[in-house]
Amino acid sequence: MEYESVNPNNGKTVQTFKTLTDAELETKLAMASKTYAEWKKTPYADRATIVAKAAELMHADIDKFAKHATLEMGKLINESRGEVKYSADILAYYAKNGEKFLAPEKLHPQFGEAHMESSPMGVIFCVEPWNFPYYQLARVAGPHLMAGNAIVVKHAGCVPQCAIEFEKLWIDAGAPEGLYTNLLITHEQSDKVIDDVRIAGVALTGSVAAGRSIAARAGQNLKPSSMELGGSDAFIVLEDADIEKTIPWAVWGRMYNAGQTCCASKRFIVVEELADTFLAKFKIALEALTPGDPMDEKTTHGPLSTESALVQLLAQVDGAVKHGAKVALGGKRMVRPGSFMQATILTDVKPDNPAFRDEFFGPVAMFFRVKDEDAAIALANDSDFGLGGCVFTKDAARGQRVASRVETGMMFINNIDWSDAELPFGGIKYSGYGRELGDMGIQEFVNKKLVRTHDMAAPLV
Ligand code: NAP
Repeated sequence: MEYESVNPNNGKTVQTFKTLTDAELETKLAMASKTYAEWKKTPYADRATIVAKAAELMHADIDKFAKHATLEMGKLINESRGEVKYSADILAYYAKNGEKFLAPEKLHPQFGEAHMESSPMGVIFCVEPWNFPYYQLARVAGPHLMAGNAIVVKHAGCVPQCAIEFEKLWIDAGAPEGLYTNLLITHEQSDKVIDDVRIAGVALTGSVAAGRSIAARAGQNLKPSSMELGGSDAFIVLEDADIEKTIPWAVWGRMYNAGQTCCASKRFIVVEELADTFLAKFKIALEALTPGDPMDEKTTHGPLSTESALVQLLAQVDGAVKHGAKVALGGKRMVRPGSFMQATILTDVKPDNPAFRDEFFGPVAMFFRVKDEDAAIALANDSDFGLGGCVFTKDAARGQRVASRVETGMMFINNIDWSDAELPFGGIKYSGYGRELGDMGIQEFVNKKLVRTHDMAAPLV
């Protein structure tokens, strides 16, 4: 296997990279383990200096990082710039708050004194996806390095340049070798890394299939894991929604990052009264997008990340249609070079259609009309996934009541799933377990240790 950087705008190979030999992998794991032994004793302030420096370096060179992402996986250049800036913000957030989040917590036992300490666990293995090639890395690097862990990272096969650039960032920021290590490895080597005694925990962001395999392996080794997996988030439109505000959110919710976002809006569930208006306006808005080179700032509809992603998505759409779905818009690859998919709306996707339970990872929206709020909630909950979702209504209190009844890890009212450094991110059901970001994100791979002091005589035996 090779790591391949291919520009999905034109199919041209930019650069290929060889995977590590087993001996090279061993050297890197040994270095990570050695560095951890020192890093865990490094005071928070010194850890924060390096993490904050990495944030500063990213902020200072946004275009350099952004260009790699756009060339390797086709993200619109302005979206890439936004991602780089946000990734730097996440690092800065943990540099600032890491110590506070992990401060000893006083407990109140009946006798004596007690507190909880948060200590690092070791080298954490992180497996990350290509769709946010820096943000996903920042989401694990910021918290886990501040917690005193070292990390080794397997990034996705199609974004090796982003992976290498992010590793270099840590060296440039003054991190010791082995603190943050990029591993260009195969799935088989990844299994061996999980088995390795020097690895203390495993974090994955990726598909359900990868989750099943990696979580099982971590489980066999009794190692803690966090799983950030797929989603099929509902975009609920109630009859009192402000349609003019809702449509731009629907477009952004489905089309941001060419639709390749775990928490993108994928199922549009609209109450009968507004259904026809919504569908008509949604179609017009999607048709108005401008396909083109993602390096061009005027482009609003870029390619998918790879040709194989496009082939898979087209097959999913064909499968949905064979089982009764209707194509209200698009449905085909664009007639132009590169891996471009038309913005697509599927209607009449019934529960017996396999597509009903699928995640469409690209610009394909499923549209459902329902009779009322209760039916919208029931349909939103009829999913194997439980990542996020949103509800549009002019009545915010009603929106919050609906949000409480939708079974997901995150709900948004009158805006769509978006992550902030301060807010926990993650899901339930097939969308995985554990949380990244916010205070919760730094707690995933720390030892919560009870320390109790009570000077008393031992009980008589
Ligand atoms: P993927 O195929 O699961 O790949 C994700 C990462 O896992 C890649 O680094 C991949 O490496 C690796 N991988 C896959 N199977 C593996 C195995 N058996 N052993 C070791 N490593 C393995 O996912 P994707 O299709 O690229 O990414 C999209 C998926 O990620 C979607 O389902 C999306 O919803 C989900 N996602 C979730 C979140 C979240 O926070 N919940 C965020 C972003 C994306 P290779 O590239 O070498 O195969």
